[in-house]
Formats: sequence, structure tokens, C-alpha cells
Amino acid sequence: MRRPDRIVLATNNPKKLGELRRIIEAEELGVEVLGLGDLAPYPEPEETERTFEGNAFLKAGAAARETGLAAVADDSGLEVDELNSMPGVRSARWAGPACDDEDNNALLLAQLDGVPAERRTGRFVCALALVTPDGERRVWHGLMPGRVAEAPAGENGFGYDPLFIPAGMEVTSAELTPAEKDSISHRGIAVRAFVDWLGELDA
Ligand code: IMP
Repeated sequence: MRRPDRIVLATNNPKKLGELRRIIEAEELGVEVLGLGDLAPYPEPEETERTFEGNAFLKAGAAARETGLAAVADDSGLEVDELNSMPGVRSARWAGPACDDEDNNALLLAQLDGVPAERRTGRFVCALALVTPDGERRVWHGLMPGRVAEAPAGENGFGYDPLFIPAGMEVTSAELTPAEKDSISHRGIAVRAFVDWLGELDA
């Protein structure tokens, strides 16, 4: 396949879109990155799969079909060992269908109440899927290991960032600058693998 001139990032989460766009555009490949807000709206699929990869393919497949463009979608979440790898694919709606990040973080803290630091381990996981209108399907993965803090700290990032201390650090991922987070994050790792692959295609 040849390198597409334009790709659509199939997410309505502005923070995620910002992270993905920032990482891809930093590579200066001359690929125009569109968000769903730049295109005619379409009904987005429900995330019914049990794996990050399955949901990423659902979202990218729908976007490619609806827009006629090469589409990339990420599905991501936090796996906590003490909770048998949950919230996992349910991370966005852990505290219920209408919940926000604050509700999710409050529930996670309550579920880990009294659990000592050494058992608060987990990881952020990202699957990044590409689907093109002519049927190319690929996926890249990224992980960021760490542990869940006892209390929120930091203003950057989104989701569970204020509660997540990356391995080898003493601060949460919400206390990192965007560039620091991108350099170690699950999404950064998956997106750079995708961008490396994109860079090897003939323009
Ligand atoms: P998705 O939009 O279905 O992939 O849901 C992703 C959810 O996982 C987000 O709403 C957050 O709750 C969580 N999540 C994924 N990546 C991150 C991250 O980088 N920081 C904090 N939370 C994240």
C-alpha cells in the first residue's frame, strides 16, 4: 500500500485526539490528520468487543467505511492486577454509563481502599488499529506499567492519569508534561510503531 495523504483519527475524545495528533504530526511525514469533527457525522459503533484490539478495529472499520479514508482508532484502558485486570475495556464507563473521569477515579480509589502499594500494580494498554477503504487491516500495541496512587495528583492528561504512577517514577502521569507522557505512554508507543510503519511506505 502507498502512504495515504490523509488519515482520519476515529475518536471523539478531544484529549485523545490531541495526543494522537501531536505524536503523528511530530514525525513530519506530510500526512494530514483529520478528526471526526472535521467530517460529516456518522453513527459510531458501540464498543461491544471484549478486547482492546477488537474495539479498535470496530471504530477504525466504521470510520473507514463511513468516510472513505484510511482510518486509525485507538482503544485503551487501565488494567489493575488487584481487580483481575479491570477496568480494562470498561475503563471509560467504569462508574456507570453516564459517569465522568472523576467518578471513575473515585470508584477505583474506593475499590483499592486499604490495598498496599505493592499490590496496586497495573498498566495502561493501547491497541491502535488501522483500516483502509481497500481492506488493509493492521494493529499496533503499547503498554505503560505502573501502580495506582493513594490519592489523585496533577492536572495534565485525562482519565485515570491523576491516579497512575508510571513504573520507576514518584509522580502521576497527570504531573508529567505532554511530551514526557508521550515518550513513555502506551499510546505513544503504539502510535510511534504505527508512524514508523507509515514512514516506510512509498509516498
Ligand atoms: P476508550 O475511549 O474506549 O478507548 O476508553 C479509554 C478510557 O481509558 C479513557 O476514558 C480513560 O478512562 C482510560 N485511559 C486510556 N488511556 C488513558 C491515559 O492515557 N490516561 C488516563 N486514562 C486513560
